[in-house]
Amino acid sequence: MPSLTVDEARARADLLSVDSYDIQLDLTRGDKVFRSRSQITFRADADGETFLDVRPIDLLNAQLDDVDLDLGELRDGRLPLRLTAGEHRVVVEADMAYSHDGEGLHRSVDPADDRVYVYAMAFLDAAPRIIGCFDQPDLKAVYRTEVTAPTDWTVIGIARAHQEAPGRWRLDETQPLSTYFWTIVAGHYHSITREHDVIRLGIHATQSLAKHLDADADEIFRVTGQSFDAYHQLFGIRYPFGDYHQAFVPEFNAGAMENPGCVTFRDEMVFRSRVPTGQRSWRARVIVHEMAHQWFGDLVTMRWWDDLWLYESFAEYMAYRVCDDATDFTDSWVEFAHVRKHWGMLADQRASTHPVAGNGARDAESALADFDGISYAKGAAVLKQLNAYLGDDVFLAGVRQHLTDHAYGNATLADLLDAWKAAGAHDLDAWADGWLRSSGPDTLAIVDGVLRRTPPAWRPASRPHRLTLCRITEGGRAEDAVLDVTSDVTPLPWRPAAGGLLVPDGRDQTWAKIRYDADTLAALPDRIAAVSDPVTRGAIWLSLRDAVADAELPLSTAVDLLCRTLPHETEDIAVRALSNWAGTVLIGQFSNQTSDYRTRVSDALATRVETAPAGSGLQLAAVLGLIPLLDDADLLRSWLEGSPPHGLVMDAELRWPVLAQLARLGVVTDDDIGAELYRDHSAQGAIHAVRCRAALPHEESKARAWRGIVGDGSLSNYEVYALCEGFWWPDQDTLLTPYVERYFDEMPSTAALRSGVVVAQTASLAFPKYAVPSRTLELAEHSLRGEALGPGLRRSVADRVDDLRQALTVRAAS
Ligand SMILES: [Zn+2]
Repeated sequence: MPSLTVDEARARADLLSVDSYDIQLDLTRGDKVFRSRSQITFRADADGETFLDVRPIDLLNAQLDDVDLDLGELRDGRLPLRLTAGEHRVVVEADMAYSHDGEGLHRSVDPADDRVYVYAMAFLDAAPRIIGCFDQPDLKAVYRTEVTAPTDWTVIGIARAHQEAPGRWRLDETQPLSTYFWTIVAGHYHSITREHDVIRLGIHATQSLAKHLDADADEIFRVTGQSFDAYHQLFGIRYPFGDYHQAFVPEFNAGAMENPGCVTFRDEMVFRSRVPTGQRSWRARVIVHEMAHQWFGDLVTMRWWDDLWLYESFAEYMAYRVCDDATDFTDSWVEFAHVRKHWGMLADQRASTHPVAGNGARDAESALADFDGISYAKGAAVLKQLNAYLGDDVFLAGVRQHLTDHAYGNATLADLLDAWKAAGAHDLDAWADGWLRSSGPDTLAIVDGVLRRTPPAWRPASRPHRLTLCRITEGGRAEDAVLDVTSDVTPLPWRPAAGGLLVPDGRDQTWAKIRYDADTLAALPDRIAAVSDPVTRGAIWLSLRDAVADAELPLSTAVDLLCRTLPHETEDIAVRALSNWAGTVLIGQFSNQTSDYRTRVSDALATRVETAPAGSGLQLAAVLGLIPLLDDADLLRSWLEGSPPHGLVMDAELRWPVLAQLARLGVVTDDDIGAELYRDHSAQGAIHAVRCRAALPHEESKARAWRGIVGDGSLSNYEVYALCEGFWWPDQDTLLTPYVERYFDEMPSTAALRSGVVVAQTASLAFPKYAVPSRTLELAEHSLRGEALGPGLRRSVADRVDDLRQALTVRAAS
């Protein structure tokens, strides 16, 4: 299917404006197909030709102003329309296919009880898989929706739903919205409703998660209410879309989707087992993020996809800020330093990096590729810098004006910059050029007693930084000094001192590669565990991990620092982030001394498991980090058989990782996995079982998993991801080596099996990440030189190739 280009979108928006959609869906026609009828009223400003977007399996009829259109003219999801100036009405009726990849109208059957669940995901260009429409963000219209569904289903959607007769539902007319927000959620959902500040709230999940949703309802509603209060105060505009539903749906690709008044979330956020606190704060942040979008994204929407970053960066920044300020979860900036910034910093140093703004998306599909650590994490860090640069009053005044001026319409970055200028911002164009329109991070390093700023050699830029220099003396006393870095050399208020730490950006306020002076590096091993602020510890580890990846900090030093940090780290987020990095990157990819480093890091984590409060989230985080590093099958088995470390409860989400590790070690059988699935007969259990079976170190298991990854279009997106996640392991080299070549030969054809997001995600997850020999690099570079890879695949492969090059460089240096 051709992807809509910016030029096509501009031409269509110049020609017509859309008034309304009347949509009728019939979900009672079996498990493969649903019937969709769209009636669209619109106006053409001149005579001209354009097209309607619709991707049916069978187009049944189409009429323009009551005249039949030639159905044979439908090509590549486009039905031509020849218009005269004036009012028009187009009607299309079609049979559409339910999807299993999380895009379009996704249908799933819960293996726990055979109940059926459906949700619509129209983002980014999937709306025509559900309804006939003019699918671009700047053709907003109102929607009236009717749904016919099995009589025992409930239906919710982008406006309040009324059941007018058994199985017949009607949604109220919406405000003007972009096509990519249209949604319904239907099926045997379990629902809980409340009210906050006269806003009706609903939360929804599958019946098999009902008791877990009930248990978490207070927390979810509390975060929602606290965030509404915060946003009403920050934005000065009340929530504009009526009721507010949050549906936790099966097999969702993203974290969540901000459909106005009917947000969809991945249902792992309904916790069916004990989780570390960091998991709860993650869910809270996603809730807060989607709520920010109700104003910034839904009320005011980008004109074209190249400003998508703005909405994601903004929602990300607001989520961290509001979660920390207004909810009970105060570890958000710890997570930002340890997880999100690390993700973004990697992205900003790959060949595929791009400016935060102006990614220049030529078409909708290419916009999707830039939906990455730069648009989210770097964008949020840059907005945090902008807030420091402008001051909060000017920052918020500009945002409020922007939301007021463009409510229910579309806007661009230039419009927002104008709003900030009108609110009193100075020199904003130069600031935006440095921070938003150029790529790559500056390096800020303490050298010869001053702070040196060095922009990336391949992308010179002049960026001001406002940051805090933290001095931690040998006695443990901490002092802060605010530094305005406006030139390449900035004097410091203190000299580095033996035994003490000087930590630039110690409060994690800017976006840069931070490098420490020699005295600080020498003092770190003895001091790192005693740094009291968890955000400062996160900032230090961000710098250290970056220095390891640049082959500046020896692996042995990094392992030593990890082993001094982990037994004392008090934040479960930090323990998870550092242990994941140690297992997959430091040991899995960078290290030639796998077993020695693995033993040392696992000993450090085992100490944390023993010393953490029994039953705490911290202990759980440490054990989850420890499991993939353990080779001791007897110990792991004893945990499954009822003797876990003191305080831990072996519930489903802890049993499965243990079984996965046993599978990887080859000491359990397919039958053992089947027995665990019998014990946990749930949708989540089924996916865990797929992952475990792919991990078994047997030729037949790998062959079966590989056939699923590259050849089976009927698998759900979650099944494919689980196959990929279970497939590659550093200690299964002999078995897996043939698949390195096969990856490059066979992955291109998966573009025909699945849709955009899933293709790219599969290519990324299935990449032979632990196969570091230079032969992998040769094969990868060869495939990138060829023509077989489409845009999503190409970006995934190119990024993994950058990681591979980095691993080879680190290995060569160690
Ligand atoms: Zn978002």
